[in-house]
Amino acid sequence: MEKTILTGDRPTGRLHLGHYVGSLKRRVELQNSGEYKNIFIMIADAQALTDNFDNPEKVRQNILEVALDYLSVGLDPKISTLFIQSQITELTELTFYYMNLVTLARLQLNPTVKSEIQLRNFKTSIPVGFLCYPISQAADITAFKADTVPVGEDQLPMIEQTREIVRKFNHIYGEEVLIEPKALLPDNQVCMRLPGTDGKAKMSKSLGNCIYLSDTQEEVQKKIMSMYTDPTHLKVSDPGHIEGNTVFTYLDAFCRPEHFEKYWNEYSSLDEVKEHYQRGGLGDVKVKRFLNSIVNEELEPIRARRKEYEKDIEGVYEILKEGTQRAKEVASKTLMEVKNAMKLNYFDNKELITERLPK
Ligand code: ATP
Ligand code: MG
Repeated sequence: MEKTILTGDRPTGRLHLGHYVGSLKRRVELQNSGEYKNIFIMIADAQALTDNFDNPEKVRQNILEVALDYLSVGLDPKISTLFIQSQITELTELTFYYMNLVTLARLQLNPTVKSEIQLRNFKTSIPVGFLCYPISQAADITAFKADTVPVGEDQLPMIEQTREIVRKFNHIYGEEVLIEPKALLPDNQVCMRLPGTDGKAKMSKSLGNCIYLSDTQEEVQKKIMSMYTDPTHLKVSDPGHIEGNTVFTYLDAFCRPEHFEKYWNEYSSLDEVKEHYQRGGLGDVKVKRFLNSIVNEELEPIRARRKEYEKDIEGVYEILKEGTQRAKEVASKTLMEVKNAMKLNYFDNKELITERLPK
């Protein structure tokens, strides 16, 4: 079977380091591995509207930002299909049919949706569209017959919901039309859910605690220097804590052995730095400077590519347009198969006509 990837991001803001370690970096590696025949990368504008319906301008503006982020990290439009969700109406149709396969109670149990509802303070006024977005995600994934979905940990309940819909669909409609997908999580534990610069559990556009891929060197430095560390580590000589210390979490995500020789040759491994910090005598500023060098090194080629693409915005929209056309062809083929399986093919079903012909 051909291996296929579908994944994407909501255009609710520019993409950040959490997206990078949680998903983007992996996508580029998978793309360049040559193992996947089809790679679909979706800008989920329709999903973004489920909790930004009153701010369509924000969603519109961020389509370009996300596209630039994609191209900057090295997603290659010649290999990966970059497309915009709302332009593929087949996805909406699939969502409508899948809605019959999911109960309200099941949707309300989704832990990610639950915490997002709390965060957005919806209380009892939860938009139906928002509650249903895991169903529309199932439509996105299955429309492209994706078997692999590279995502951060917060997306696991969505993949599980998709798998349930696929099983139920195939069971009821009696055909192996849909493919059960698998989530592909980052190998590195800390990358599954990178915390925000404020130490909160998740770096997230909605929480305003992000280092963006498009931040300048100065912006990154400012954010790193004011990052949350260990509140009990008051004096340099005090013993410090590593657990819950965001600077060390980021080092776990980004630091590689060669960084010591390049930026901090007093140490030869991260363990050594950690030991010193825990013992006392190592100040936050030094560790933050080290992290700053590493993060900026990682972001430099991304910034350079972004600069190039920014010179040709028309070209970027052309990439999206072509990708969207390609994606639409695939989705409409799946939709036809789904409708056939559901017996919604009245006009081209010869049997239906012949069985009522006078004998
Ligand atoms: P929003 O606040 O609008 O939901 P977000 O920052 O959560 O935005 P999404 O577009 O919802 O970003 O997520 C896109 C992808 O990035 C998903 O696969 C998600 O798991 C991953 N991701 C987002 N934030 C992080 C993070 N802090 N650590 C690891 N992965 C992340
Ligand atoms: Mg999110």
